[in-house]
Amino acid sequence: MLIDLHTHTNASDGTDTPSQLIDKAINKRLDVLALTDHDTTRGWAEASSALLNHPSNSNMQLVLGSEISCQDENGISIHMLGLLFDGDYQPLIQELEKTRENRLSRMEKIVARLNEAGIEITLAEVYAQKRDDATLGRPHLADALVARGHVASREEAFAALLHNKSKYYINHYSPSPMDAIKLIKAAGGVAIIAHPLASQRGRTISLDLFDQLIAAGLDGIEVDHRDHSDLEKSELLRLAIERDLIVTGSSDYHGTGKMNELAEHTTNPAQWEALEARANSRRVVAR
Ligand code: AMP
Ligand code: FE
Ligand code: FE
Ligand code: ZN
Repeated sequence: MLIDLHTHTNASDGTDTPSQLIDKAINKRLDVLALTDHDTTRGWAEASSALLNHPSNSNMQLVLGSEISCQDENGISIHMLGLLFDGDYQPLIQELEKTRENRLSRMEKIVARLNEAGIEITLAEVYAQKRDDATLGRPHLADALVARGHVASREEAFAALLHNKSKYYINHYSPSPMDAIKLIKAAGGVAIIAHPLASQRGRTISLDLFDQLIAAGLDGIEVDHRDHSDLEKSELLRLAIERDLIVTGSSDYHGTGKMNELAEHTTNPAQWEALEARANSRRVVAR
């Protein structure tokens, strides 16, 4: 079974439409696919109808979710995958909207910093790189910088200008990971911390923070991910076993926005079953 629990579309910073993602996943013979755009559920409707109306007889299961941007008290960025939650649960949707809204003024500030340093780029050029209702992110700015000829690729834009420690970097409002977990659980879903050891190389999330995440209701850890070394994977696996957490693996596919291939890492079927059973209602979309 091929189970990929973390992917993006152009509802955030991926490059495929939700329909294209569904089509690619079916062609790759995935059994379970989760759609997890940053801070939004805007791709859900199109993905669901693309699956339900697909010309194939695929019985792929679609898991609707979101990758929620969070920040701990030291300002470290943490991504929380929420899967199988009720998309009509307003406290969660409103929290996502607050983050999405704040990403606009944040982008204005990053652009201003680049301009001050003589790097010419306008907010309009950044917006031109995304779908109207997509969650705005640095990858759209990266694409605008590529279009202007400042850099050759998203990768180069991040390496040279947009990485988290860059002097141009500005963060945006985001909830604490504990608050995100509580909202996901209140909405009946499951919470998995995404690539926990990848965002800040050399700085591991403290065990103390993991205790707090678990107390808030954390269900699982994304272990198999391209941004984890073998050592990091084995550390996380040990932690998951010790704390009785579910282990997932996924591609974090972004279309052509990243090298990650669909299903390059996958989740074990028994782990997926345990995860799905923890949602408060059966919300998988399938024909
Ligand atoms: P933001 O949410 O605006 O802070 O931007 C973070 C997003 O940028 C992540 O979710 C990744 O999709 C993307 N990203 C981070 N580093 C890179 C990189 N080196 N190359 C391409 N995309 C990246
Ligand atoms: Fe992304
Ligand atoms: Fe992420
Ligand atoms: Zn992601």
